[in-house]
Amino acid sequence: MPCIQILPEVFSFLERQHGQFIDGQTRAPASGAAMLSVTNPATESVIAQVAAASEAEVDAAVAAATAAFEGVWAQTSPYERGQLLLRMADAMEAHGEELAQIESLTTGKSIHLSRMLDVGQTAVALRYYAGWATKISGQTLSPSFPSLRGERYSAMTLREPVGVVAGIIPWNFGPMIAAWKFGAALACGCTMVLKPSEFSPLTLLRMVELFTGAGLPDGVLNIVNGGGDCGQQLIHHPDVAKVSFTGSAGTGIKVGRAAVAAHLTRFTLELGGKNAAILLADANVDAAVTGLLQTGYVHQGQVCAAPERLFVSQERVDEVCEKMAQALRHLKIGSPLDEAVQQGPISNKPQYEKVLQYFETAHRQSQVLCGARAVDGTGYFVEPTLIRARTPQDVLLCEEVFGPVLTVMPYEDEGQMLEWVNDTPFGLSASLWTNDLAKAMRLIPQVQAGTVWVNMHTFLDCAVPFGGVKASGVGRELGSAFIDDYTELKSVIMAY
Ligand code: NDP
Repeated sequence: MPCIQILPEVFSFLERQHGQFIDGQTRAPASGAAMLSVTNPATESVIAQVAAASEAEVDAAVAAATAAFEGVWAQTSPYERGQLLLRMADAMEAHGEELAQIESLTTGKSIHLSRMLDVGQTAVALRYYAGWATKISGQTLSPSFPSLRGERYSAMTLREPVGVVAGIIPWNFGPMIAAWKFGAALACGCTMVLKPSEFSPLTLLRMVELFTGAGLPDGVLNIVNGGGDCGQQLIHHPDVAKVSFTGSAGTGIKVGRAAVAAHLTRFTLELGGKNAAILLADANVDAAVTGLLQTGYVHQGQVCAAPERLFVSQERVDEVCEKMAQALRHLKIGSPLDEAVQQGPISNKPQYEKVLQYFETAHRQSQVLCGARAVDGTGYFVEPTLIRARTPQDVLLCEEVFGPVLTVMPYEDEGQMLEWVNDTPFGLSASLWTNDLAKAMRLIPQVQAGTVWVNMHTFLDCAVPFGGVKASGVGRELGSAFIDDYTELKSVIMAY
């Protein structure tokens, strides 16, 4: 099947010289600005140039967000904030194909996935937060102080927006992860400065232009581009009240340390995982294999919650491995803009090289059941891979690969299996595959993970909090959990 036609507006957007988005304006690159090249991972060609923000521009973005927080945004009612978020969702959908194409060109994500998640589910998230804008409230409380002179007491709590939030996001699902942050921030009355990954800033730069057309007031949402230095400047800025970070555990630790050292700035961290799927002896193997193929290899496995470790009851392991390897060998690899393709490229060169290194380790240390090779030719393509570990200490069973690789470990004893499942610094997600719901209910509390799915994996819903335990993070996104993170709780006690 041929690739889809690239829209003319996508070509003209890519050709522009991209800079920062500050105080409602797209700023042309300052003269002499360092330029970041955005590469299409399917072709290895540079498709756009984006100026890195200077220190003065980062300061200007925080100043704009501060002025908006104290001014226009403070005067906007919760109802108006909700209405704006709804219009932002509408604007995304009205330009959905354009945004999806930009996202697929910069990340190698299948066009289906860009349409469904980075446009569709991003709009869903904005509408979800729109609903919350009018429902964020404190409590009334009854103090128990003794009344010494006949006075009475009443108390209440107020939810106040924390202020300017710095959002730092990774390259894998930039629009959706950013919307989880700015949707929450804006619903609570905060303003934001976002720093996308330097590998994939383009879709967000186009989105904020659309949001301005939908009525986003100047300064409420700003974007600065750059790498770790830019992120660090934001974290250290005295006017940033909170940092909301999504990325790797290593960077997350640096972000958390910097936030504490800066001004005891509050922070939330959504980090990596080494997520386990557990296939019990009674599981429906065909359903499990289909579910694991869909969730372990979607976006070439570059999904934080994707299953990377597969613990299979010894009596079913050969059947599972055979069915999975058979299906993986038939996945169609190619351009993410070809609607028939099932595997695109790895999103960027450093990640591609990292995955190739893990392939080398797998060939040396474990049993490669299929894949573990680069695809010849242009682009950062690799074969979808299935590994069978020889020991629970195999590197592929211990370190986050963030690629299209699942590593299988058979188990005989459930107690032993649970030890292996939890023997990791990470704790983002896990899944149990079984027809025995009572057994699942007994196992769920024993699995150390922020989310446990049963007979499914990587199913994220706006209504359900998402985040990690152990080294997979601090805090939660989605659900109502975000309210704690984007508001301060003020207590008021009155005597009368
Ligand atoms: P990184 O940690 O490398 O980068 C994340 C963001 O932090 C990027 O914007 C990056 O900029 C920036 N950054 C890099 N260094 C610093 C620093 N010292 N201070 C402040 N900011 C910095 O992660 P990746 O982008 O490689 O994303 C993949 C990782 O993200 C995986 O581990 C994955 O599991 C995790 N992830 C977690 C999710 C969750 O919800 N739990 C969801 C999605 C991904 P730049 O890219 O420009 O260097």
